[in-house]
Amino acid sequence: MQKLTSLSRSVKGSTAIITGAASGIGRAVVQLFVDEGANVGLIDIDQAGLDSLLEEIAAVGGSAYAIACDCAVRDDLQTALQQLAEHFGAVDILVNNAGVALGSDINDPTQYEASWQQSLDVMVSAQQRAVITLLPWLSQSAQSSQARIINIASSEAMGATAFNSAYVAAKHASLGLTRALAIDLGKQGITVNCVCPGPVNTGMTAVIDDQDKATFARRRTALRRYAEPEEIAHAVLNLALPSSTYITGAAIVVDGGLTIRNA
Ligand code: NAD
Repeated sequence: MQKLTSLSRSVKGSTAIITGAASGIGRAVVQLFVDEGANVGLIDIDQAGLDSLLEEIAAVGGSAYAIACDCAVRDDLQTALQQLAEHFGAVDILVNNAGVALGSDINDPTQYEASWQQSLDVMVSAQQRAVITLLPWLSQSAQSSQARIINIASSEAMGATAFNSAYVAAKHASLGLTRALAIDLGKQGITVNCVCPGPVNTGMTAVIDDQDKATFARRRTALRRYAEPEEIAHAVLNLALPSSTYITGAAIVVDGGLTIRNA
């Protein structure tokens, strides 16, 4: 039989930059990409988390470079991204993953304003600013191989849970940004997609009682459980592959069936 395609299903040798890399989903994306032979540029506000991850990567002979930075601060983010791009001399894949779950009660205006600003800064503005900063590098990558932008949104981009409106607004905005940028960057050969995880066992959800998690998962998801970070990372990898040439503007829902349930 003749080989169907020469499109590669490997990110080996590609350079990926991942924000929010030190914990949870971001950390799993880094580990998976390192396993697959990619060079990884890491950003996180958590220096100790980055240091321990770099040690793990060095132990398996991976190629990584990390810069501690607050994604909410525009100039710091842009400088860090620029340094990472220059270190590797290329950027093929950007994974905008950094996130915070602050909760937001509209009846408490003081707390609400702070939660709103931080949620939008970290989960929307940072995503847009990272794209702007890395666009010259991604455009260059698109000319020779793949150029991929993957935003981590949420099932909260599809609906809403109570007292979480700042987070929900940020995730809806991330989905909107994904779709709009997919249109704007398509002619440059850059794909832009988002992954919408449901409940995942990460640092973000570690504060929830195990019994409450189990009850929620049993009632609300088809698979009756939380995801592990690795399960989200595989969806990110699929979108990042050179062979994923015609997926753009998509919201890949990885939620164990949460958003398809009526009751
Ligand atoms: P996590 O808390 O384990 O990891 C988030 C990472 O982002 C941390 O390492 C943290 O230090 C970093 N970070 C936070 N604020 C930052 C800032 N200002 N600058 C730089 N880094 C910062 O949480 P996670 O669940 O792995 O979250 C990753 C992404 O997945 C987030 O965008 C989150 O909204 C999304 N998500 C998570 C779930 C879930 O159930 N865990 C569900 C849907 C979507």
